[in-house]
Amino acid sequence: MHALSIEGLAKHFPGGSVAVEGISLNLQPGSFTTLLGPSGCGKTTTLRCLAGLEVPDAGRITFGDDVFVDVKAGHYTAPNKRHLGMVFQSYALWPNKSVMANVAYPLRLRGTGRADAEGKARDALSTVGLVGYEHRYPHELSGGQQQRVALARGLVSAQGLLLFDEPLSNLDAKLRLSMRTEIRRLHDALGYSSVYVTHDQEEALAISDYIVVLNQGRVEQAGSPHEIFAKPVSPWVADFVGFDNIFEVDTANSSEERIALVGGGELAGDVSQSTLRRHGSIAFRSADVRFAQELAPSSCVTFRGVVRASSYLGDAYRVEVEVAPDTRVIATIPDSSREQVQEKYLGATHEFAVETTSL
Ligand code: ADP
Ligand code: MG
Repeated sequence: MHALSIEGLAKHFPGGSVAVEGISLNLQPGSFTTLLGPSGCGKTTTLRCLAGLEVPDAGRITFGDDVFVDVKAGHYTAPNKRHLGMVFQSYALWPNKSVMANVAYPLRLRGTGRADAEGKARDALSTVGLVGYEHRYPHELSGGQQQRVALARGLVSAQGLLLFDEPLSNLDAKLRLSMRTEIRRLHDALGYSSVYVTHDQEEALAISDYIVVLNQGRVEQAGSPHEIFAKPVSPWVADFVGFDNIFEVDTANSSEERIALVGGGELAGDVSQSTLRRHGSIAFRSADVRFAQELAPSSCVTFRGVVRASSYLGDAYRVEVEVAPDTRVIATIPDSSREQVQEKYLGATHEFAVETTSL
C-alpha cells in the first residue's frame, strides 16, 4: 500500500477559468478519501490530473515511489502506466459486448493478450460477485448487476489506486445506497487507496475515512467525517454541511454573557469572543435547538424569541423564531401534535437553548 501525495496542484483552462488553485494533500495508504464540494469546485479536474487525463500547470503527484507528474521536473507518466482504476459518472456498458468483453476491454485496448485479459477480467468479476455471468449481455442483467460490471471494468487494470467520479449520481436512491456499501466493501477487500468524488455530503460522510472539502479550486477543510460534520472551520463549510443557522457576531457589542448578532438580536451564553475563530461567526443546526427547559443550560447558548412560522416535516416542526425584527433562528422541534405546536407556540415568546460552533 502506498501513500498518495499531491503538492501544489494547479490547473487553469484557456479563457482564464481556474479549475484547481494550489491543492496539497497527503493521503494515507489504504485510505478512502472523498473530494467533496459543489459543482464547478474542481473535483473532476483534480481526479483527471491524478489519472493523467489532464496535465496540470503546476504541482507534483506521487503514489509511493511512482512519480505520476512533476511539472517542475518536466515529468509526466501516461495514464496507462499509472496502473489505477477509474469509474466515471457515466457507467454505460457496451450493449453489444458480453460481460466478459466489457470488463476485458480496457486491457485489450492497451494491448494485453486475450487469455491474460480474460483471466484478469474473471478475477475482477469474482471481486464484484459476478462469477458465472461472463457470457451474458448487459440487457440480461438487473440494474445493480450492470453497475457491478461497470465497477469490475474500472477495477480490472488497477494495482493499488482507485478513482471514482460521482459513480452513483445516475442511479435511483435505493440502488445508490446499496452500491455505496458495495464500493466501500470492495475498497476494504482489495486494500487499495481510493479517491472518490461527490457533491453529496451524506454520501461523503457514509463512505469516507477522510473528507477534503473543495471550494473554488482550493481545500477549504480536510478531516474525518465527524470533524467535517460537527466542526466546520468556516461559514462556507458550515453552510455546505447543513448548518442552517449561521450568524455573524457583532464583537464590539458583545460581552462575556451576551452575544450580539450583526443585523440585530442577541443570544445569552458563554461563547466569549476569544473562542470565536477568524470568521467571527457562530453556527448551529436547527435540529439541535431545544426548548430551554429541556436542556442543561451550562454548555449552551440560550435565546428568547417569538415563534413566527411553523411548518410540518412529518416527524418534527420547522419553526422560525424571531429574535430581533430582522433576525430569525430556525429550529426543528420534534413533536407529535400539530395542534400543540400551533396553539402553544405560534405567536408566543419562548426561550430556547442550543450548543453552538464558533467559526
Ligand atoms: P467539478 O467536478 O467540481 O464540478 P470541474 O473540475 O469539472 O468541477 O470544473 C472546475 C472548473 O473548471 C469549472 O469552472 C469548469 O467550468 C472548468 N473546466 C473544467 N473543465 C474544463 C475544460 N475542459 N475547459 C474549460 N474549463 C473547464
Ligand atoms: Mg465533476
